[in-house]
Amino acid sequence: MHTFHLSGYPRIGAKRELKFAVEAFWKGNTSEAELQQVAADIRRSNWATQQAAGADLLPVGDFSFYDHVLDIQVALGCIPARFGFDAATLTLPEYFQLARGNATQFAMEMTKWFDTNYHYIVPEWHPQTGFKANSKNLIAQIKEARALGHDIKPTLVGPITLLWLGKEKADGFNRLDLLPKLLPEYQKLLRELANEGVDWIQIDEPILAVDADQAWLDAFAPTYKELAITGTRIILGTYFAGVAEHVDLLKNLPVHGLHIDGVRAPEQLAVFAQAWPQNKVLSVGLIDGRNVWRANLSQVIDTLAPLSAKLGNNLWIAPSCSLLHSPQDLAVEEKLDGEIKSWMAFAAQKLVELGVVKQALEHGKDAVKDALAASDAAAADRATNKKIHNQAVQERVANLRPGADARKSPFAQRIEAQQAWMKLPLLPTTTIGSFPQTSEIRQARAAFKKGDLSAADYEAAMKKEIAYCVEEQEKLQIDVPVHGEAERNDMVEYFGEQLAGYCFSQFGWVQSYGSRCVKPPIIFGDVSRPNAMTVFWSTYAQSLTQRPMKGMLTGPVTMFKWSFVRDDIPLSQVCKQIALALNDEVLDLEKAGIKVIQIDEPAIREAMPLKKAQWDEYLAWACESFRLSSTDAEDSTQIHTHMCYSEFNDILPAIASMDADVITIETSRSDMELLTAFGDFKYPNDIGPGVYDIHSPRVPSEAEIEHLLRKAIEVVPVARLWVNPDCGLKTRGWPETIAQLQAMMNVTQKLRAEL
Ligand code: GLN
Ligand code: ZN
Repeated sequence: MHTFHLSGYPRIGAKRELKFAVEAFWKGNTSEAELQQVAADIRRSNWATQQAAGADLLPVGDFSFYDHVLDIQVALGCIPARFGFDAATLTLPEYFQLARGNATQFAMEMTKWFDTNYHYIVPEWHPQTGFKANSKNLIAQIKEARALGHDIKPTLVGPITLLWLGKEKADGFNRLDLLPKLLPEYQKLLRELANEGVDWIQIDEPILAVDADQAWLDAFAPTYKELAITGTRIILGTYFAGVAEHVDLLKNLPVHGLHIDGVRAPEQLAVFAQAWPQNKVLSVGLIDGRNVWRANLSQVIDTLAPLSAKLGNNLWIAPSCSLLHSPQDLAVEEKLDGEIKSWMAFAAQKLVELGVVKQALEHGKDAVKDALAASDAAAADRATNKKIHNQAVQERVANLRPGADARKSPFAQRIEAQQAWMKLPLLPTTTIGSFPQTSEIRQARAAFKKGDLSAADYEAAMKKEIAYCVEEQEKLQIDVPVHGEAERNDMVEYFGEQLAGYCFSQFGWVQSYGSRCVKPPIIFGDVSRPNAMTVFWSTYAQSLTQRPMKGMLTGPVTMFKWSFVRDDIPLSQVCKQIALALNDEVLDLEKAGIKVIQIDEPAIREAMPLKKAQWDEYLAWACESFRLSSTDAEDSTQIHTHMCYSEFNDILPAIASMDADVITIETSRSDMELLTAFGDFKYPNDIGPGVYDIHSPRVPSEAEIEHLLRKAIEVVPVARLWVNPDCGLKTRGWPETIAQLQAMMNVTQKLRAEL
């Protein structure tokens, strides 16, 4: 028998029941008992779905009220001492305070889980950090599952990955040094589970799939030697990238099994097929845990067949990674186009697919004839369906001539053509695009979507907002104003709704952090732009001012990174299709008199592959796509881009190669540190380092802004320097926005007078 297992399932509920229950509890509207009941119902229903699909080992430890990385910190007693809580007796309200902060302690930091949009709570490591195992919560859930008649396999974040994921909160100490303290408690945790009769445990060590330093890799053999003597059988979990380079290390670890991701790194299958010992379990994930598409089951079965022949029962099957990253149940979707829906599989459907794969491996393909026929038909339909395939779009990408991504002239010439009409003063001022998204704006949009507000009334409401925004910028004398993005719900969704090739689910929510979920748009087919997307609003805004109005687009990388993307063509193709659609928009904006256009790329860093070896290839097509998105603009049209959230020091040449006339970046929180790197690198084009942090309502003093701007003047030639906030202002209120921008303008005027 090939064991069908999984390491995790969406825990938020098919209709976000957990989100609503948790938020009601936070507000004091429900009791802890009621919240616990919702949680138990979700676990019960998840396990039932998994069992019905034929899963043999069901996950425990994947459920969480906030974050499973926080849960393992609680289970190991290593929560930050600054809260003064005892992990062993931690209450649910205290647990939430760790994640969300309280009156005296700020919340623990969170950050993205590898290259997903899931955010985990970052452990805080001190040399004094202590550990103390406490399996109470896990054992309660194990008992709960068993009482329902299930065979289970707990999933835990592994000790080495756990240390790696955290941050050192003291100088001169290496978090890996905590391993000798952590290990005995991790062992104890496993022993307690073994005493509970747990046979298999999955221990996830995804750092094996990223470029961890040798010291971390060296920790594996001694660590797992210790964990192997605890009386449970361990299957090591890896995912999101390949681990073939560690095959020798892995096959010699004293563990009973290994899970590998066959979707993200199909090339590693051949390596493991050849090298993996027959007496150890190899779990192969060929059903994509991170996407919304149906698998090609015949192909999956054919790929697994030789492994099955070699490994027999030691071949296990699973999704590529925890299903946490995919939406829960396609069955509840009522509005998706029927054909598009027939190409999709959410978590529940992925389990059914695995059930079919298992049957086929055991009893032959004939035993699952109907399911395979349906899967084959969907694959065949997807390969040719006109809803997906647009020949004109494909040809346009295929026929791009070499150099098609270059602007007409180099920057030096372009900036002259731009300055000839823009006549900007030294230190030109601008903002990043959005202005406060007030509750009036959001209510108007909600009413419009519900049909309670007519299109004409909605348009009038948005125009009023835009007019107000332009008027305020006029008063502030901002040199390059924006329209404020009032009409946009979200910077990707707004464009996705207008591009062919995108669709939207009703309930395709994925947990982002805590109770927050996102519903990414879905790119299902070739992307094109049936109509102009922003010209109407931008020209209206331009009609209100003599100053050059900046048009606002979302770049091709960000457009795919924050969506579910089709898996039938390479990402680079999807990206270029979007880029060419944007280029059309740029030309329409130009024609309508909008000659400054910003193409935001906040996700360019986050879309980098996990493995450094793949960076160059990615950056080549990502930057090419960015250039393509405004390649036909006139020299006199000024293209801006904006990036935030990230460090860019190690990819400066790539960012420079994007060749935007102006880049605005987040720098204020690092005291212009990032800008120093741009300065040392001699960034060739114009640059606007953010001079204040937009994440806070606090109005910075003019002295602070002046300090930052003077630092910028030290590293960037003053002729190349712009003045702007760190990022968009949509999360701010109006009063502080005006005050902040006024301070920025005052400082700018003061320095201009000096220069
Ligand atoms: N133009 C967008 C805004 O101002 C940019 C958002 C972002 O950088 N994430 O909101
Ligand atoms: Zn930003």
